[in-house]
Amino acid sequence: LEQLRADAQRAYDLDRAHVFHSWSAQKQITPMVISRAEGSYVYDGEGRPFLDFSSQLVNTNIGHQHPKVVQAIKDQADVLCTINPAHANDKRSEAARLISERLPENLNHIFFTNGGADAVEHAVRMARLHTGRRKVLSRYRSYHGGTEQAINITGDPRRFRNDAGDAGVVHFFGPFLYRSEFHATTEAEETERALKHLRRTIELEGPETIAAIILESIPGTAGIMIPPKEYMQGVRALADEFGIVYIADEVMAGFGRSGKWFSFEHFDVVPDLVTFAKGVNSGYIPLGGVAISDDIYDTFADVSYPGGLTYSGHPLACASAVATINAMEDEGMVENAAHLGETVVGPRLRALAEKSSIVGEVRGAGMFWAIDLVRDKETREELAPYGGASAEMNEVVGKLKAGGILPFVNFNRLHIVPPLNITAEELNAGLDVYEKVLTEA
Ligand code: PLP
Repeated sequence: LEQLRADAQRAYDLDRAHVFHSWSAQKQITPMVISRAEGSYVYDGEGRPFLDFSSQLVNTNIGHQHPKVVQAIKDQADVLCTINPAHANDKRSEAARLISERLPENLNHIFFTNGGADAVEHAVRMARLHTGRRKVLSRYRSYHGGTEQAINITGDPRRFRNDAGDAGVVHFFGPFLYRSEFHATTEAEETERALKHLRRTIELEGPETIAAIILESIPGTAGIMIPPKEYMQGVRALADEFGIVYIADEVMAGFGRSGKWFSFEHFDVVPDLVTFAKGVNSGYIPLGGVAISDDIYDTFADVSYPGGLTYSGHPLACASAVATINAMEDEGMVENAAHLGETVVGPRLRALAEKSSIVGEVRGAGMFWAIDLVRDKETREELAPYGGASAEMNEVVGKLKAGGILPFVNFNRLHIVPPLNITAEELNAGLDVYEKVLTEA
């Protein structure tokens, strides 16, 4: 323990001396040291276990240190660590096949990137070149990545200080009945009004200027608001009517998170481009990509695509994707996520919402759930303001951590997003802590 503590202290001190952190006021953070992780657990600098109900940034869908994926990375390292993307490589070819096989039949080609944001950058570039148009439509309450174009497309406060308003992005409101922008009281009303609002936005922006509509099929960090099926089908119909490319951002919701391989499958829609990252290989090695429809592929069949990356289809990353997808399939992880979401998380969270005076709404599917915390169930005032924090939220989070949980927190929400292969026992043990903390609060 002495040695563990000393190592953790050194890691912490060097971090504070030399590491610049994402999305942070550098001197106001105290990063938790993680010494190791296994399955659904991570261990802090003193070796204390925490149940990982965050899957980190909702990426370790197969949990930590899955032995088959770790072995696949070691095996690939012995053979070929890196190769120019211009060459063909067995692991890249196989990863592309496994991904396309799980997508609708019009999506047959994969462009690999290093992560989600650059997948979004390339999807938008493809849409612009394919249509010869410039504007992109995206919804408020969304996240699409931290690079220049992706952060401008994003509809959350992380955009505010990055956005000069000249990125060719127009934001619209999506359906979210619990906090309706449309004064709707039923899902049917919300759907109809949200679609009318999107149609008017397209018409008034000028359809001939709009290259793409990008939507997280189920918005993730923004709050896991599952859209009505009719809404998603309506978006697909509007895109078709106006010749707009429909991009499904599956970076967080994809690869089993919602209990299906891709979350757009819940709505029976087929996108033109699909962006993915995170769960494709659980983030063991950085990897993302864009799945491309045959129609858009044809645009670049005889005219070169003006884009690329040194590490596109990196062999170590692709080998880990192949092993991840095979492990998910062999071990029934997507089915496990769907089953535990329906039989454990959903019922328990709904019961909690009845009992707790601060749980306003719970919503989700698979291993992808949000708890919307409020000061007052009538007014639905958030327990922390949009884009901010509060003493009450901090207290709730502190108690969850003291109870051995590593939680996912966004403003006034707690997201229940553990690995897809978590056991029922681990899941119930974690939910016991949430129940205790939120009923006592
Ligand atoms: N798109 C969505 C829906 C995301 O949730 C994220 C990351 O959280 C991204 C894009 C960006 O991915 P990355 O952080 O790998 O660049």
